[in-house]
Amino acid sequence: MHRFGYTNTEVMTKDDIITLPNTHLRQKSQRVGIITPEVKQIIADMKAATLDWDASREHEVGVALAAIQIDKLYRIVIVREDYSDKKNHGFTVFINPEITKYEGEMIADFEGCLSVPNVYGKVPRYSKVRVKALDINGKQFRVTAEDFLARIFQHEIDHTKGKVFIDHIKDDPEAFYRLGENGKLATLDYEKDIKNNADLWPKG
Ligand SMILES: [Zn+2]
Repeated sequence: MHRFGYTNTEVMTKDDIITLPNTHLRQKSQRVGIITPEVKQIIADMKAATLDWDASREHEVGVALAAIQIDKLYRIVIVREDYSDKKNHGFTVFINPEITKYEGEMIADFEGCLSVPNVYGKVPRYSKVRVKALDINGKQFRVTAEDFLARIFQHEIDHTKGKVFIDHIKDDPEAFYRLGENGKLATLDYEKDIKNNADLWPKG
């Protein structure tokens, strides 16, 4: 069904997601002040882009996105409500998210990024974090996240600070993997594929 009066004529797609070597990914995002219609539009765009990406990937789920990944320098993060179910298209919105406490232990595990296609890394993260953010109505709320969800928050909040997951493992020759067409991870040749890769580490 179609309807008239829809102001946003262009729906965002996976092609609106910026990827390395785009230098914007290493810029700091700004705090959201008032939650304006523009902010709400950015959130809708983030969801649309993530779900379109998700639909195009056979072996992966788009679990979360930060606004900078659609080239909007705002501290906004969306996290999939149930990332174990590709059919669940709901997201929770975190505006100006902040980690207030790191807990648990450091665990190195796999993560990937919609802005770093096909590269996976084994990144050390805290196993538990407490997060404070605003919801879509500007009301503050807090969550405690453990395990993979804690990893998601650390990854996404890094994006709001201009940090990409590979920056944590830059000097670790054992940490980089590539997703094969069979859906399995294979090690990458650090010296050949990673160390001097100008897409991953653009100059300037
Ligand atoms: Zn990412």
